[in-house]
Amino acid sequence: MDITRLIFEILFLVFVIISGFIRRPFQKQVKGNSINLNNKDTLEKWLLGLTFLGMYPIPLVYVLSPWLDFANYGLPLAINVLGALLLVPTALLFYRSHKDLGTNWSVSLEIREEHSLVTNGIYKYIRHPMYSAIWLWVICQALLLQNYIAGFSGILGFGLLYFFRIHREEKMMEQQFGEQYVAYRKKTKRLIPNVF
Ligand code: SAH
Repeated sequence: MDITRLIFEILFLVFVIISGFIRRPFQKQVKGNSINLNNKDTLEKWLLGLTFLGMYPIPLVYVLSPWLDFANYGLPLAINVLGALLLVPTALLFYRSHKDLGTNWSVSLEIREEHSLVTNGIYKYIRHPMYSAIWLWVICQALLLQNYIAGFSGILGFGLLYFFRIHREEKMMEQQFGEQYVAYRKKTKRLIPNVF
């Protein structure tokens, strides 16, 4: 067994567990703010399922069983180390976006009973910091899990969900908040401050 390989795999799993703990209190807190408008259609549901599969069960099966080992390959150590270091800003951004979005958070396209437009905190710089964090997460997955299936299943699932959802989410926010959202969109980028 290759110990370095295993260390990076375990690091990734630890990160996944930590991010579960980061999200949990916010998930509880949001329960009190009921859903007013649900824009979740069938394709969105399928893509959410695919994203979940690619980010949780597939990496878990890969690390804990030999079933996906036929698709293994090797990456330079420096790439693994980069992935490990990136986990830290990823977790911080994941936390910060949950904190700033507060009770407006949803796993899908939804407007809540008491929904307010968040434009402060991290949202002052980018409109989709949580998606930036999840992009970083799935990139780390590819840098840390040296397997064609488990390394890329996150990018595939979340990538499809992101490109399908992003325009619809912004349209929904514009319908809900009108000029306020249009002005906010003019002042901010989507994922990386001042870039895009
Ligand atoms: N796209 C955001 C939020 C992800 S959670 C991000 O990446 O940080 C998805 C839900 O958040 C959407 O259904 C929408 O209801 C809500 N939302 C998105 N942007 C918001 C904002 N600026 N203020 C309040 N709610 C927002």
